[in-house]
Amino acid sequence: MSNNIGILYIVATPIGNLSDISLRGLEVLNTVSLIAAEDTRNSKVLLNHHSIKTPMTAYHEHNEDRKATFLLDKLVAGESIALISDAGTPLINDPGYSLVEKAKQAGLQVMPIPGACAIIAALSASGIATDRFSFEGFLPRTSAARKAVFERYQKRQGTLIFYESSHRIAKCVDDMLAVYQPTHRMSIARELTKTYETIVTGTVEEVHERVMSDANMQRGEFVVLIEGFDKKQHKADGLSAENIDVLKTLMSECSVKTAVKLAVQLTGQPKKLLYASALELNDAD
Ligand code: SAM
Repeated sequence: MSNNIGILYIVATPIGNLSDISLRGLEVLNTVSLIAAEDTRNSKVLLNHHSIKTPMTAYHEHNEDRKATFLLDKLVAGESIALISDAGTPLINDPGYSLVEKAKQAGLQVMPIPGACAIIAALSASGIATDRFSFEGFLPRTSAARKAVFERYQKRQGTLIFYESSHRIAKCVDDMLAVYQPTHRMSIARELTKTYETIVTGTVEEVHERVMSDANMQRGEFVVLIEGFDKKQHKADGLSAENIDVLKTLMSECSVKTAVKLAVQLTGQPKKLLYASALELNDAD
């Protein structure tokens, strides 16, 4: 790469606490010739806080393509540019993909300046399994479509993480309670790094109860995490062949939830074990 071609820096900014930006991030924002920001008024607060005077230009979802061409021309002309979003890491449910894709295609240097990201911050402090996870961005707006996502994920291993808004958090936990076992573990991380930061971890039933009974739990910004299906744990003490037959018969006639409920009464086996076996039977089909 020739020295007189600019570098495109992807700079992570805070998700609340304005001190959550790296020294390198500040240095880059101070030395580039231009900062492309999702919302310049919003980013002005951060730049003022750190006494950064670098000029800004708006780069958001409505001008992505047009602005990308403008920014690429500047890079080729030798100017270095920093891309920032309103909060956290650009491109993670924020604008920037089109610019980075085009810059890579043009053979330009793109450099990440890592830092805050709400999903990683939530995962690191939630107490929900971290070894494997899937990120779904924002879930669909309708209850039926959200439930379909939960149905799909409850049979998969690994934690499911997604963003949620204050208008939908109550409906979302309602949908979770309708699909998951009440004893399934989950967490809601709210207002991370801000004054009212709250991380509630417990069973779906417990977290649902907390959201419904505490109006503050329906305000602010949220990351939701729900544990995946744990095959190893459920396989440790399996059902007898007889009990599996009972479960299979019930499952051929009704929904998993009803089949498990009836199987608990008929076999006397724990609900969690029957439910895990039901999911395995479903998977095997
Ligand atoms: N790029 C950002 C990142 O790296 O986390 C995410 C941008 S996405 C448009 C914004 C969503 O992230 C919010 O609606 C909320 O769900 C989540 N979020 C952002 N800041 C948060 C915070 N401080 N606490 C909890 N969730 C947050």
